[in-house]
Parts: sequence; structure tokens; C-alpha cells
Amino acid sequence: MKQKPNSIPERSNPRSSPESISNLYGGLKVTVIGAVVNLILAVFKFMIGTTGNSRALVADAVHSVSDLITDIVVLLGIHFGNLPADHDHHYGHKKIETVSEIVLGLFLIIVAVKLAYDSGSALWFKKIVRPTSITLIAAIVSIISKELLYRWTKKVGQRLKSGVIIANAWHHRTDAYSSIAVLVGLVFTRISSALVFMDAVVSLVVSVMILKIAWGITSGGFKRIIDTAPPSNYIEETLELIRSYPGVKNPHNLKMRYVGNAIYMEVHIEVEPDISVKQGHNIAGGVKHMIKNHHKNVIDVIVHVEPLKNG
Ligand SMILES: [Zn+2]
Ligand SMILES: [Zn+2]
Repeated sequence: MKQKPNSIPERSNPRSSPESISNLYGGLKVTVIGAVVNLILAVFKFMIGTTGNSRALVADAVHSVSDLITDIVVLLGIHFGNLPADHDHHYGHKKIETVSEIVLGLFLIIVAVKLAYDSGSALWFKKIVRPTSITLIAAIVSIISKELLYRWTKKVGQRLKSGVIIANAWHHRTDAYSSIAVLVGLVFTRISSALVFMDAVVSLVVSVMILKIAWGITSGGFKRIIDTAPPSNYIEETLELIRSYPGVKNPHNLKMRYVGNAIYMEVHIEVEPDISVKQGHNIAGGVKHMIKNHHKNVIDVIVHVEPLKNG
């Protein structure tokens, strides 16, 4: 007996309780405001960086673009995660999030390599123009706004008890550190004309950082789209959970795959051979609901019931 995948209205949605609805909007608001700040900072630093001759500030602007991209992926995830399945997308639309992640990540890799190449060749051929003093102000504005965003996001994350939002807050703080590095490089260039190369050095470092972020975004997307399983301890824990369900013997063939950030599972279980179809069905349904209650990102569990072999 096999249970068919659920139609969408039946799936357990962690956002359906009133408390988590306010969580969703609180989380949405803090993400949207973070994205808007990243967008403004990216445009502002790019303009001042190009007119004020600071490669490091331009690289920092691209870092803000990379932050904006991660914000956009989160928002796309919320949007497509809530789109219901339809006649030509039976598993919903969550993979659109993963595809956009890969495309945006690849775009960012290209930009980071170009930035690193330009800074490297500027250093090599000693073609460095001294940055103007206005670039210092842009770096300071970036540091202050990121620090304020860190404090506010952390407060919201603690209020909503959201690990994702708190992690995002810490990200804002590392962005502030990146802008501090830019500022330090710029201060050096203002101290002495012999130190103007420092701006390109910082730019090179920031480019490598962006490359690392971009690779993380891209490879994460690729892993999910080619059905890489979740970590083995997660699989072990789920198997233990299934084994603990009354009437379930010898769970096996547990398979998992990602659809967007959600997980689909399949598992075989054995039951006493002489119980009724109805009892077997109840056990299968119970297993499914137990897993979905335990792991909120599990969308569906197909439970295949077999008679106990050595019973
Ligand atoms: Zn960042
Ligand atoms: Zn089997």
C-alpha cells in the first residue's frame, strides 16, 4: 500500500498558527528592510567608489549586491514556497528558488573574478589612482548603517526566536567589518601617497570574500537541485523517530530529497502481517504526521507498508 503525495491544502504548514503568522510578517519586514538598506548601500558605494577612485569601495558595493542577492533568494523562497501546486507543477514551485539561487550565484562569481583580476592587474602594473577623501565618508556611512541594522535585526530575531533572523543579524555585523577594512585601507591612502596601493590590496581581499560567498550560494543550489541527501545525522535521527512509532518494525529504504528548502521523504515500514488494511493505513499516516510535526520543513512522507517478514 502506498500513500500518494498529498494535495497542497493538507500539508502541514508551520505558518498556519496565529503566532507563527506574526512571525512570518515580522521576519518578512526585517528581511525586506535589510534588502532595501543593502540596495541603497550598493548604489551609494558604487557611485562614490567609481567617482572617488576607490577599488575597495566598489568591491564593498559588490559585497552589498551579494547580500542583496541572499535577501532576494529568501524572499523568492517565501513567495514560491507559498505558491500552490497546479496541474503542470505537481510538487509546487519551490525549485524556482533553487534555480534563481544558482543563476544569481554564477553571476556573482563572474563579477568577483573580474573585480579580483582588475585589482590584481592594477597592483601588478602599478596603475593606481589615489582615492579622494569623500570615499572615507561613504565607508563610515556603510559601517554605521550596518551596525544599526545588526542591532535591530538581532533584537527582532530574539523576539521572534528565529535562528535564521539572528544569523542574518550576525551577517550584517560581518558586513560592517568588511567596510571597516575598506575604511582602514582608505585611511592609509590618505596618510601617504606611498600607501595608495593599500586600496587595491583591500579590494583584492574583499573580492576573494565575495567569491567565497558566491561559491556558497551556487554550490548550495546545485547540491539541492541534484537531490543531495540531508546530512547523515539528520537521516539517522529520522530513522530512530520512525522506529519509535508504535507498531512500526524494521523501517528501511528511507530516502530524502530537497525541493527548494523543503524536504520530501519516502520510507518502507513493516507491520504485523495480520492487521487490517485500515490499521496499516493508520500507522502509515501516524508516521507521516509525526515526522512532519518534528521537522517543519518536511512537506510529505510517502510510507510504504509491508508485512513483517520474520514475524
Ligand atoms: Zn555580506
Ligand atoms: Zn521494503
